[in-house]
Amino acid sequence: MEQFSNTETSLLDNHVDDHVDVEIQECLSSDPPKSFFMFAGAGSGKTRSLITYAGDDPKVIALKTALNVPFDEMERYATYVSDHSRFATHQGVKGLEYPRVMVILDDSEARGFLTDFENHIVSYQNLIEKADKQCKNTYDYLLSSDEAIIYNQDASIKTKINMREIKDVFTISVTIDNINDYAARAEKLKFLELKSKAICISLDDLMVYREFFDSPLVFLHFLQQRRQATQESKLALSDELDHLGMYIKHNMYCIQLQDYPDDAHIRFYGYREELDNYFCKLYHPQLCPPKPSLKIPDLFLKTINYLEKSDFEEKIQASNYLLDFSADARKQLCQSVEYALQRQPQVKHMISFGTAGSGKLDLRYTGFVEQPEVPAFTEEYKRQYTLSTLLWNDDPDRIMLDFVFDSNGHLVSFKYTQYTIADIKPTERESLWNMGKERANLRLNIYLKQHQQINPSDICPCGSGKKYGACCKKHLNK
Ligand SMILES: [Zn+2]
Repeated sequence: MEQFSNTETSLLDNHVDDHVDVEIQECLSSDPPKSFFMFAGAGSGKTRSLITYAGDDPKVIALKTALNVPFDEMERYATYVSDHSRFATHQGVKGLEYPRVMVILDDSEARGFLTDFENHIVSYQNLIEKADKQCKNTYDYLLSSDEAIIYNQDASIKTKINMREIKDVFTISVTIDNINDYAARAEKLKFLELKSKAICISLDDLMVYREFFDSPLVFLHFLQQRRQATQESKLALSDELDHLGMYIKHNMYCIQLQDYPDDAHIRFYGYREELDNYFCKLYHPQLCPPKPSLKIPDLFLKTINYLEKSDFEEKIQASNYLLDFSADARKQLCQSVEYALQRQPQVKHMISFGTAGSGKLDLRYTGFVEQPEVPAFTEEYKRQYTLSTLLWNDDPDRIMLDFVFDSNGHLVSFKYTQYTIADIKPTERESLWNMGKERANLRLNIYLKQHQQINPSDICPCGSGKKYGACCKKHLNK
């Protein structure tokens, strides 16, 4: 205690930290390194300067470091060691590979499993619910402050995560035992109370994902769909590979369920055969099994590949946007791009293309294709063009897609920009409206030359996606 009171006096001295940086230098270069943890610990200048009088006695250093820890960290540490922590088990938090997205994994191991049915349910309940609860706790913990601190097992700080930069958090509850069949159903079982929307899978399935997904962007899109499937009571899949199989085939596979009644339990068969074959054949490499792949067109694959390598900040959003396209919508975009690539060199100017609709699932985009032999629109013109379309159509939002090709027709870059009405400055509103009006007039005249007349209930030729009576008939013929 004597040593303590001496310490207290020293700690009140504001000049005691004056040479801390020099001391750190010395500490780093000495052999063996001295008590480096102190500098990485609480981070206060006082703690660092303790080296001066703590000398080489590790106990004194530890004690004094502890005394300098800010109260909130101490409090968290106390919770942690008393096992009341929200992160008391072995969660893995994987976030570094994916900017702005975090994946929380919690693993559990069953004990006394599969002896009788009653036991089975109880073990299973413990297994999944416990992992789920930990996922939920970790999730709450991470989101409880702007900066989440992750600790090592010895309670030292492993890393700090700036939660303001995280846009999405996935929780995955992983069971060590192979309870594949139950894991896939666990999310829906009534006797389990799952709180975290966690995706329940076995460790084996996690390994399947590691083997299957080459692209982190595609994997993140899959996780989004997979999480949605946990909330879809109609979906009754009995195996994790069914989820993956359905994803490969349909991408947004939960949409397949929208036409069925709410109380239905729908099973899907035949989705996993290709995957089963692939994973079985892996044990016999001489068969060279082809990996089942996402049924998406080349343009989409190349665009996602491009995004993967780019440092574009919104790349996850952009790839999710493209991967959400239905098969028809993909085909339409590919045809539009293909048409522009062929037509633009002939007419020697850029042409735009786009889609419209006001529904939640409708795609609203304006697209441009750049190629070296065709003079390009300016960025400002493309922006105005897209915003004038948004204004004229009364869109809630509109995406601008820019595809850039080289002279060999290879995609060299891609840009995704989301616009809303808030992006229109009050001073440009009128000119953008007139731009939209001019374009609508032009399209209407072309249509009338071919068709002579339009009914109010027809889809408006201006491309807004609305009925003529509620669109150009109202706005143009005044
Ligand atoms: Zn119209």
